[in-house]
Amino acid sequence: MRKKQKSMLARILAAAALLVLLHFTPADGWIRFVLYMVPYLTVGYDILLKAAKGVKNRQMFDESFLMAVATIGAIALAVYSGSGDYTEAIAVMLFYQVGEWFQSYAVGKSRRNISELMDIRPDYANIERDGQLVQVDPDEVETGSVIVVQPGEKVPIDGVVLEGDSTLNTSALTGESLPRDVGAGDEVVSGCINMSGLLKIRTTKDFGESTVSKILDLVENASSRKSKSEDFISKFARVYTPAVCYAALALALLPPLARMLVLGQPAGWGTWIYRALTFLVISCPCALVISIPLSFFAGIGGASKAGVLVKGSNYLETLSKVRTVVFDKTGTLTQGVFEVNGIHHNRLEGEKLLEYAALAESASSHPISRSIQRAYGKPIDRTRVADIREISGNGVAARVDGIPVAVGNGKWMDSLGIGYIPCHHAGTIIHMAVDGKYAGHIVISDRIKPHSRAAVQALKAAGVGRTVMLTGDESRAAGQVAAELGIDEVYSGLLPAGKVEKVEELLQAGRGTGKLAFVGDGINDAPVLGRADIGIAMGAMGSDAAIEAADVVLMDDDPMKIAKAIKISRKCLGIVYQNIVFAIGVKLICLALGALGIANMWLAIFADVGVMILAVLNAIRALFVREL
Ligand code: ADP
Ligand code: MG
Repeated sequence: MRKKQKSMLARILAAAALLVLLHFTPADGWIRFVLYMVPYLTVGYDILLKAAKGVKNRQMFDESFLMAVATIGAIALAVYSGSGDYTEAIAVMLFYQVGEWFQSYAVGKSRRNISELMDIRPDYANIERDGQLVQVDPDEVETGSVIVVQPGEKVPIDGVVLEGDSTLNTSALTGESLPRDVGAGDEVVSGCINMSGLLKIRTTKDFGESTVSKILDLVENASSRKSKSEDFISKFARVYTPAVCYAALALALLPPLARMLVLGQPAGWGTWIYRALTFLVISCPCALVISIPLSFFAGIGGASKAGVLVKGSNYLETLSKVRTVVFDKTGTLTQGVFEVNGIHHNRLEGEKLLEYAALAESASSHPISRSIQRAYGKPIDRTRVADIREISGNGVAARVDGIPVAVGNGKWMDSLGIGYIPCHHAGTIIHMAVDGKYAGHIVISDRIKPHSRAAVQALKAAGVGRTVMLTGDESRAAGQVAAELGIDEVYSGLLPAGKVEKVEELLQAGRGTGKLAFVGDGINDAPVLGRADIGIAMGAMGSDAAIEAADVVLMDDDPMKIAKAIKISRKCLGIVYQNIVFAIGVKLICLALGALGIANMWLAIFADVGVMILAVLNAIRALFVREL
């Protein structure tokens, strides 16, 4: 419990004790009034100050104002009527503060829960200095430094392993406890926990640019992107509170005036003012104002525990309405790790073809390029390569040892005016031209991710009616993958711009029948991620392009998480609607009872605090998403 919460609790308890004590103290007139003001001010002075400040700044229609007017009014009424019954006004203030205390406790707790559960912020980095390990602030470590991570410690900064073998626990990042083996040369991302061996890592990024910092930023900033429901609530409160105040004023004035002037009866001012004050207490909108943002906050926290980063509550809202999911193929449904199956029609001697391919591809980050370099296996001397151009969805062109080399698909050969020999083998065909002449092709094949098929089925079970695959690959390879996965529609041979067009068509066709999500790996498809109603990227554990372009990031590249994200969002939105309906419903009933004079102020404050506590407890349910 924080200090502020502790002192608030102390004030509440002290005021309650005083109130009980005064109940047994015989006192009358002014002495009684002064005695009762002690617990009233003890528990409520900050609310009164807030209300006064609001009036001074002409922004007075808030909850503090409602509470101040209601309680001061009740006290004035007690003085005026000579009843000396101040207990009710004090109790209203007391219970209101109990509600406030509970709310700040719950918010604080869920915030801490989230950061604890995403316990990834590293506290220090170890650096070797004169044979000694020194702990330094990760912020102070420069890119390219060597850090040491001992077993049991968190990797503080992204980098590459220089020395040592170990197993990393990635569960804090991905929500899945799949241990990953790493050795010299492997990339490691911050936030993982080193389980077994000692690792020496050369950092490749600053702490601020590392995966951990990015994730923490995302989650912390997520709550600033407001959803429609939250917007609705703040607009609602802006109109609602003044409306309630005027309604209360009308309730206090009109019926007594009518009785006096029209019916010629005694006005009964006291009764109607009391009813108006009760009406004010009942109408306090705190349950709504607090529980809706808290529900979204908990939903985002729950999702990040499951390895799904959602960049704002608006995206959670969109995600819950997704009815069409469009996939990119390479790197999304397939692993994006190609194996070389064969080299045909090779017009060069020995390994030359693969060597030229690897050199020409040396600047590309496309999965095909990385796979070819892996197959080549030897270090690449970049000084031999010049004039590199990469044409998205086609291939690359470069000069290797001064000779022009082109690597890519049939389309690319066509556009360069080079005749090529088609291949009858299954897989992706990488044609090569060297010095303006066709030089053969490399057949490579990708593997489908182990969960892709189940992921498509899970989406269908979750009510996603339409699944579509878009790819730049040729139709034969594309058709095979789609058939194997049970995807409804395939469009192949698309350039990145073609993918945007296709998504626009699908958006048009699906208008009014729910939202469209595009799932990609962030390579070549950033524009599409932006164009869809919601862009979901494979995080590739830190791929910058993906994390920036997307609205939702799947930390472990597992397509199963798409259905999970949708389920999490639906649960969260369900809770939001439950809270809206429940809080407004109870309010309306109490308002009606209050106006009729059936409800008194005691009932009003119990209803208000009760609704708030239930709504907040309900909101916190959004944090628990394991079983979905
Ligand atoms: P996908 O839609 O499956 O993610 P891309 O749009 O990234 O595929 O690429 C489509 C096709 O373009 C690839 O199948 C390949 O034939 C060709 N291609 C793209 N980039 C390269 C590259 N760097 N080297 C060789 N071929 C490439
Ligand atoms: Mg791709």
